[in-house]
Amino acid sequence: MDAQRIYNEAREIEDKVIELRRKIHENPELSYQEYETAKLVANYLRSLGIDVREGVGTETGVLGVIKGRRSGTVALRADMDALPVTEETGLPFASKKPGVMHACGHDAHTAMLLGAATILSRHLDEIGEVRLIFQPAEEDGGRGGALPMIEAGVMEGVDYVFGLHVMSGYPSGTLATRGGAIMACPDSFRVEVVGRGGHGSAPHETIDPVFISAMIVNALQGIRSRQINPLEPFVLSVTSIHSGTKDNIIPDRAVMEGTIRTLNEKVRETALKSFRNIVKSVCEAYGAECLVQFKEDAYPVTVNDPDTTKRAMEILKDIPGAEVKETQPVMGGEDFSRFLQRAKGSFIFLGTRNEKKGIVYPNHSSKFTVDEDALKVGVTALALLASKFSS
Ligand SMILES: [Zn+2]
Ligand SMILES: [Zn+2]
Repeated sequence: MDAQRIYNEAREIEDKVIELRRKIHENPELSYQEYETAKLVANYLRSLGIDVREGVGTETGVLGVIKGRRSGTVALRADMDALPVTEETGLPFASKKPGVMHACGHDAHTAMLLGAATILSRHLDEIGEVRLIFQPAEEDGGRGGALPMIEAGVMEGVDYVFGLHVMSGYPSGTLATRGGAIMACPDSFRVEVVGRGGHGSAPHETIDPVFISAMIVNALQGIRSRQINPLEPFVLSVTSIHSGTKDNIIPDRAVMEGTIRTLNEKVRETALKSFRNIVKSVCEAYGAECLVQFKEDAYPVTVNDPDTTKRAMEILKDIPGAEVKETQPVMGGEDFSRFLQRAKGSFIFLGTRNEKKGIVYPNHSSKFTVDEDALKVGVTALALLASKFSS
């Protein structure tokens, strides 16, 4: 199938895709709780005559399988979960659930994949097998929703896998990707500094965890500046420190949390090892105890297969009105990385920024929204890649 034909069909169903997106947007569900969304997805796929399996990997994982008549197998993935954010967009279809919002655009991902499924299911002669993976809990950051679905077998026999992510950083309709590392490995840490509290006027009789925490925060930035190659992307942020109750009391303990982002496993190993050494040494120097924990199951680096991505970018250039660009890597994490460990493929950003419409807020903001004009480009991209790579 060629790009123009798919694009024409995407325009025909554009209103339907927007309606689906808005319906999902109104009813956002947090990670692992995507019950209504999963039901909506399964019902819609069934209405297209597509084979559906529900409860795949976790209760809310949905797999649709389109059995085309050609030979290859391509997987397309959308994530379905929302975030604990109170929506402030003022849109008529804003979240009806206080404190929960589709602030990362997973509503758009789900709607676009349903749109692509609509088109692909009409052209069985021109495609191979297409697996439609609707995964829960991308925002979980630990085990996530991808891994359980992979363990349930959704990637068995898959030749290529593709996924889109809407991105406020690119103008509406832009498709941006790159071969190699595109998103980071996000490691989360928690450090507990255990000192000995006492009177604020007599610090020499205490082991002050507030002072020691401040030394640790500073010392940790030496990893970036002194230990990692300056040409390697690297972020270390201490994002919370909790300690103490009152101006004249030195507390017993302090707890710090934060994140480390890397694009390269060697850099990651160096950083994690050095992190432990620095925290331990600073604590030892001042007589405190410490406990360092890293969240298990950090998402791996998201690595696009270079040849597949090059070919995908050439194919996407034929979509009317779409601009295809090479992107810089982004330091966010993604469990699409786990699909890319099982098959060749690409993760692709879809620009949804539109300054004229005031759509300028970043992903995860309470004012985040997407320019819905970009949805037909996303639908076309997914259907086109599935068709070209499975035949
Ligand atoms: Zn997100
Ligand atoms: Zn996301």
